[in-house]
Amino acid sequence: MYYSSIPNHTLIVEVTPMTAYSFACGEYPGMEGCPGKVQAETEAELWQLIETHARIAHEEDVSAWSDDEKTQVKALIKTVD
Ligand SMILES: [Zn+2]
Repeated sequence: MYYSSIPNHTLIVEVTPMTAYSFACGEYPGMEGCPGKVQAETEAELWQLIETHARIAHEEDVSAWSDDEKTQVKALIKTVD
């Protein structure tokens, strides 16, 4: 009878806790050419930055954004490691 020993593998997973969320305004339809880019550690913070940018750079009334517009913005949010 054989006893085979299976070596213990220690799996080291490198976790990168600094995932960031980013949004490039110029990727939004109609905003082509805008150099505005915002990046934050959380999605909630990113939204604040997007809204601030929209207000200041484009004089947008962010409270008037429709769900469609928000969905479009959300679709353009990227995560970066
Ligand atoms: Zn912009």
